[in-house]
Amino acid sequence: MKITQIETIRFGQFPDLIFVQVHTDNGIIGLGETWYAASTVEAAIHDHFGPLLIGRDPSDIEAHWQTIFRLSDHAGYGGAELRALSALDVALWDIKGQALKMPVFEILGGGTRHRIRVYNTLGVYGDITDGHDVWRKPVDVAKSLMDEGIGGMKFSPTDFIARASDGNILFKKQLDRALQPFREIRDAFGMNFEIANDGHAKWNLANAIRIVQEMEELQPMWHEELLSPLNEEAHLRLQQATKTPIAVAERLMTRYQHRRFMESGAARIVMPDLTWTGGISEVKKIAELASGHQLPIAPHDCVGPVNMFACAQICMAMPNVMIMEYNRAMHRGWYGDLIEPNFVVKDGFLMAPTEPGIGTHLKSGIRERADATVRVSNEAREPWLFSRERYTYPPKDIQQEFEQMV
Ligand SMILES: [Mg+2]
Repeated sequence: MKITQIETIRFGQFPDLIFVQVHTDNGIIGLGETWYAASTVEAAIHDHFGPLLIGRDPSDIEAHWQTIFRLSDHAGYGGAELRALSALDVALWDIKGQALKMPVFEILGGGTRHRIRVYNTLGVYGDITDGHDVWRKPVDVAKSLMDEGIGGMKFSPTDFIARASDGNILFKKQLDRALQPFREIRDAFGMNFEIANDGHAKWNLANAIRIVQEMEELQPMWHEELLSPLNEEAHLRLQQATKTPIAVAERLMTRYQHRRFMESGAARIVMPDLTWTGGISEVKKIAELASGHQLPIAPHDCVGPVNMFACAQICMAMPNVMIMEYNRAMHRGWYGDLIEPNFVVKDGFLMAPTEPGIGTHLKSGIRERADATVRVSNEAREPWLFSRERYTYPPKDIQQEFEQMV
């Protein structure tokens, strides 16, 4: 099997989302996805990595991952290049699963489970307005989730009040008001409903410590990114200030950044974003690394529908998964416009995908949407860096001398 063409598709309706389709000479098409600065990711795929893959065997996923990562890490590896790699990696796993006619989790080692508990991140789309309703009717929001069998949610009560001062000043009155929905849910349901607190990296350490201490009595499921995970020592100080576990973090890229937070004790819950941090290949490694530290992973979502399918494969295969993020507003609101089948959440659990590969594909005809931007690469080309490196090689006869040594 050979890769013949790489195609990216993005839509004006969702300007940060980008899909990649990897086509092969036997007709199998692999699907991947990532989110943020989509046109930059598009350039990374078509100008750098895609032409390198054309003509090669899609089965050699790890080899391709290493090649692309090494082409990124010489310039710092956390940008659009890594998101491009993440999307391509998912597409290659999708091809492998389809070729072997089994879901990816079966190839990763088989199911350690066939469903995973989800919590709902409060979103707003179409008829579902959880993210707004929680401020006026928090008990109703929690009740409607519990009615669906979903036992927890993620809420970002302090984001808004951090904005004016970039997290540098925290007014107690505003914090009390921000935590009111949280308190009302606790008063109504006690500890029968879990709530995670996400800070989206808005606060400095001093204020993050005040927030975790103020929230101690509310017993959140975790605190996530109250401060940006730039400094594992600062995060460790935050963890030491609270009994609540600290979850870190969608902003950490690859096992190499996650490692520092695990080893220092700053992370009690490891939260990789699969479509940012290196795809299925890398999140499997991050989960194994976390397992070695006796830590769980809780994969991050809020990206797009393909991420949920890819994370579902990890959630079924890896034993140390705690829970999966889920956004019912996006799931029911627009995922079904772009992919089929949609994933299944039943009684508060994300069910194992059943189709071969990652378990879904783009709906037919969406490439023709008026707001679609489609770019195609179908010619093999080596990255410029490879030819540049050759300038530092010794002359041909000396190269042969080296080759004869082994
Ligand atoms: Mg988050």
